[in-house]
Amino acid sequence: MMTTRIKQIQVRIWLVFILFLSLCIWAVSYFQQQSRQLLGSNFTALAIDITQAQEDVHLLKRSLYYLETDSPFFDVQELKKVILRIQYRSPLIDRKIRDSTIEDFVYADSIGVLSEVNMILPTVNQQIVLFEQDKSTKNILVKQLKQLELDLALTYDGLHDMIQTASDVERRLKTELTFLIWGLIATILVVVSALLFALIRLYQHKEILIIQNNRDHLTQLPNRRFITEKAQTALLNRPKKIGFAILDLDFFKKINDLYGHPAGDEVLKVIANILKHSISAPSFVARLGGEEFCILFLDKTQNEAIKICEEIRQTVEQTKIKVNNSALIHITLSTGLYHHEGERQTTFSQIYQHADQALYLAKKQGRNKLVLHDNNLEF
Ligand code: GH3
Ligand code: MG
Ligand code: MG
Repeated sequence: MMTTRIKQIQVRIWLVFILFLSLCIWAVSYFQQQSRQLLGSNFTALAIDITQAQEDVHLLKRSLYYLETDSPFFDVQELKKVILRIQYRSPLIDRKIRDSTIEDFVYADSIGVLSEVNMILPTVNQQIVLFEQDKSTKNILVKQLKQLELDLALTYDGLHDMIQTASDVERRLKTELTFLIWGLIATILVVVSALLFALIRLYQHKEILIIQNNRDHLTQLPNRRFITEKAQTALLNRPKKIGFAILDLDFFKKINDLYGHPAGDEVLKVIANILKHSISAPSFVARLGGEEFCILFLDKTQNEAIKICEEIRQTVEQTKIKVNNSALIHITLSTGLYHHEGERQTTFSQIYQHADQALYLAKKQGRNKLVLHDNNLEF
C-alpha cells in the first residue's frame, strides 16, 4: 500500500514538472520571438535623424522668410546647403523607416510625400540657379520653397509622432516581457522548492519504511531480516572470525500462562534491553521472533564471544522483572553459540543451523546454559 502511495506521489511530481517545463518552453520562445523583433528597431537613432531633418526644415523656413522679405540676411548659398541636406537626409530616413518594425501602412503616406519631395528637389535647385541670374523669378522660387517647406514640415511632424508611438509600444512590451521573466523565475523557484520538499518527504518516507521493515515492533531491536542481511554481507567478505549465538528464554510459555501475555511482552522488552546494552558495533543483536534472540559477532574471538554470552546469561539470571505492577519474576535463557576463525566457505543458513543445534543441546542439558557448537562434528 505504501509503495502505491510513493508511486502516486512520483507520478504527480512528474506531471507538475512536465507542465512547468512546457510553460517555460512556451514563455522562452515567446520572449525570443519578441526580442528578435525588437533587436532590429533602433527608434532612438531614427528619432535623432528626424529631429535633425526638422531642424533642416526650420532653416529652410528661415531662409524663405529672408527671401520673401528681401532681408539682407538672405544668403543663397545657405539656401543651397539646406536643400542639399534635405536631399541627402530624406532617402536616409526613408530607408531606416522601411527597415524598422513599424508596419508598412503606418508610414506609407509619409514615405510617399518624401519620395515626391525628392523628385521635385532638382527642379527647386534649377529654380535657385535661375533666381541667381534673374531676380524677377523670385515669386516662382518662393512658391516652390513654400510648398516644399509645408510638405516637409507636415511629413516630419507626422513621422516624429509615429516614432514616439512606436517607441512607447516598444517600452511597454519590454516592461511586460520583464514582468514575464520575473514571474517565470518566481514560478521556477516555487516549483523547484515544492519539488525538493516533496522529494525530501519522499526520502523521509522511504527511510521510515526501511527502518520499519528492519525493526521488531515490540522490542525495537533489529529483526530477523536485518540480521540475515548483515550476516550474508559479512560472509561475502570471508571474515577472519565470525560468531553467531541464538539465545532462547527458558519456559517462557509458563510466564504467559501464569501472568498473562502482556506480562510476557514486558519480559521480552527487559531482555531486549539487557542485550542492547551488552553488544556494541561491529557486533549486532536482533530478535529472531517469539522469545528467541541472536547475536552476530564480527570481530570477537571465540573466548570473547563465550564471555559476552555468559555475562548476558548471568545478568538475565540475576534480573528481577516486575510484571503486572506487583509480581517480581526470574527468568533464564539458554544459548547456542557457533564460532569459527580462519577463512571458511560457509553460508548463514549453515551457521544458523549449527547455533540452533548447540541451543538444542543447552536445553537438553537442563537450560540456563551456554553450549558451543563443536566444529569438529561438522561434515
Ligand atoms: P523452552 O524452554 O523449551 O524454550 O520453552 P518455552 O516455553 O520457552 O518455549 P515454547 O516454544 O514452548 O514457548 C514459547 C512461547 O512464547 C509460546 C508463545 O506463546 C510465546 N510467545 C511468542 N511470541 C511472543 C510474544 O511476542 N509475546 C509473548 N508474550 N509471548 C510470545
Ligand atoms: Mg523458542
Ligand atoms: Mg524458550
